[in-house]
Amino acid sequence: MKTIGILCAMDSEFALIREALSGGHTESVGRQTFYLAQRGEKQIVAAVCGVGKVNAAACAQMMISCFHASCLINSGVAGALSPELHILDLVIAQELVCHDLEERLLQNYFPHCSRFPADETISALAVSICQEQGLSCHRGLVVSGDQFVTDTAIKNDIVSRTHGDAIEMEGAAVGQVCYLNEIPFTVIRCISDGADDTGEMDYDTFVDKAAHRCAGLTLALIDRIG
Ligand code: SAH
Repeated sequence: MKTIGILCAMDSEFALIREALSGGHTESVGRQTFYLAQRGEKQIVAAVCGVGKVNAAACAQMMISCFHASCLINSGVAGALSPELHILDLVIAQELVCHDLEERLLQNYFPHCSRFPADETISALAVSICQEQGLSCHRGLVVSGDQFVTDTAIKNDIVSRTHGDAIEMEGAAVGQVCYLNEIPFTVIRCISDGADDTGEMDYDTFVDKAAHRCAGLTLALIDRIG
């Protein structure tokens, strides 16, 4: 049976998913709790991994090594970098890159890859679900780093270096772990803020609504993955 892993950084992003998996049980690996449940023909392993790249990477590897996840979905909120993205828009990653690690280093040394492409089939399925539900969604470059960006000057610097569309703190780490393990993944995000000088206020206002919207799409997606 196929096992799909779902990682969210925060409780607010996980609430709807936890509710949908309420018939299952929990297991722990060290300090990390996993929610295991069956949904249709699929086994789901889901977790709140915490914020940042190390937490996301560790949790992703546990899902693969301990629970045999054969594909991963990272779901949560993000800041907009592209002017085309608005609060509550959905973003389905095309590829992911770290904005706080020189790409040259990952290119020149193992694993000789710094941009991690999301799985085309799973991502396209997410896009078609959005279209069916009349939700605004974009494919694009998602950039990740260990920094909550709410400063227009920092945002502009990251945009000029990466040309990213959305910014968050976990997706590229999940992408890198999946690349190393040779398993497919996708990253689904809903915009909570503009990562700019008013970003902190916008985030506080919209995080719950954005988190809920993203989780709804993730649940629809796991039901449709073949
Ligand atoms: N204001 C909150 C921030 C939590 S971290 C606090 O201080 O408690 C923000 C989380 O949402 C991360 O998991 C990240 O992936 C995502 N995120 C949303 N907007 C972001 C932004 N502008 N910059 C970086 N991460 C962002």
